[in-house]
Amino acid sequence: MCYAIPGQVKAINDKTVVVDYFGEEKRAINDLINLNIGDYIYAQGGYVIEKVAPAQALEVLALWKETFFELQEVDVRLSKLYFEEGYHDTKLSRILDRALERSSLSRSDLHYLFSVEEKAANAFIYKCANFLRQKYLKNSCCVHGIIEISNICSQNCFYCGISSHNQQIKRYRMSEQEIVDTALSAIKDYGFKALVLQSGEDSFFSPDKIAKIIREIKKQAGVLIAISFGEIGFDGLKTVYDAGARAMLMRFETSNPLVYSRLHPGRNLDTRIAHLKRAGELGYLIMTGALVGIPGQTPDDVFNDIFLAKELNAEMFSFGPFLPHPNTPIAGYLPWDKDKIFKVLAIARILDPENAKILVTTAFETLHPDARKEGLLCGANSVMLNVTPAKYRALYSLYPNRAHVSESINSQIQDILALLRSLGRAPTDLGVSEKIFLMEQSITEGAL
Ligand code: SAH
Repeated sequence: MCYAIPGQVKAINDKTVVVDYFGEEKRAINDLINLNIGDYIYAQGGYVIEKVAPAQALEVLALWKETFFELQEVDVRLSKLYFEEGYHDTKLSRILDRALERSSLSRSDLHYLFSVEEKAANAFIYKCANFLRQKYLKNSCCVHGIIEISNICSQNCFYCGISSHNQQIKRYRMSEQEIVDTALSAIKDYGFKALVLQSGEDSFFSPDKIAKIIREIKKQAGVLIAISFGEIGFDGLKTVYDAGARAMLMRFETSNPLVYSRLHPGRNLDTRIAHLKRAGELGYLIMTGALVGIPGQTPDDVFNDIFLAKELNAEMFSFGPFLPHPNTPIAGYLPWDKDKIFKVLAIARILDPENAKILVTTAFETLHPDARKEGLLCGANSVMLNVTPAKYRALYSLYPNRAHVSESINSQIQDILALLRSLGRAPTDLGVSEKIFLMEQSITEGAL
């Protein structure tokens, strides 16, 4: 995991460089830039994305030094493990002891964690997940930006509000220039160091066109770009990787082939998974996961979803609730309760304490207003901010009433930085804005 602060190159072994962040050493792949030992760089998701002039790097590092360690202290304090007074559940303790020792959990253990309902039991499960996150992944939290470049979609996914089922929304497609300008503004004006470009399956954006856009952005700024355009074909994946994309966000949606085929008539789960595997082989960082609470899905399916995301070596897990959209065939199907979604995040962390970044999705924030804070306290360590131009955002209506849809980029940034500060977390993908971050009041536990 990388920080959005400059690191100094300590060693270079072929394409791998060792980078120092205030004494913490991390590794990153350098496939873009001519580097020497002693250079300062920004790295994201394990990739060097930009070289920084020493004077500029030292200025940012001076601003950050104290905050860096203060945040870590707050995080350690907030992730201590304890049972609520007067509560005891021997079976739960045994299961969580094994999780903390990193012994594997059985299916029946997972069912027990998932189905236990007492508030104190759940609080302890969340604390364990948070403890594991802190122990293995420390306090860095991804803050990616997402630009939704088109809501035009040829697919008929039963749950999705921008699918061909929805005859009532106004469709939009950003121009290539608009996409480049939006990305450059997110990077240069707001400090984003990792951006996701997403759309419906819109054939206008051929791999060549996507490649051209990415080349243009990368020519002008250092950034980690993730693509999220669905299944663009193996050749398409290669074309876009060669243009400089280094991550792919694509959920497999469900690992149960029957549930998948019912919700995606005419499509095949194997093809989707093959794309994820191919992308991984090409060198893309994989961000994947599943919808939680779709018709026909069982808790066992969800455990399998987590295992599949792990098997795909996902850099980031994206598990979020299904929310019904009125203009789709499953409009009347109710979402799962918020506690079940928290449980999925916590179980995902317990099953993968060391590797995955776990996202708190906007869908979850739409279901439950405190999902972001509570999710970050039950194992998650990643969020995405919407940097789509305001005039298009409401039209990207995967589900109704999306959280943050009318908030300016500035206010989204202020809110996440205040929340992260209160939790002792360091934003990993927001660079320039550390100035805003440091201007905020001194670190407190805020509303905790
Ligand atoms: N075309 C891209 C992006 C699809 S939209 C692709 O195929 O990957 C991004 C994600 O939104 C989907 O993967 C799906 O998991 C999620 N989504 C769609 N409809 C939703 C709904 N009703 N509730 C919650 N999430 C939804």
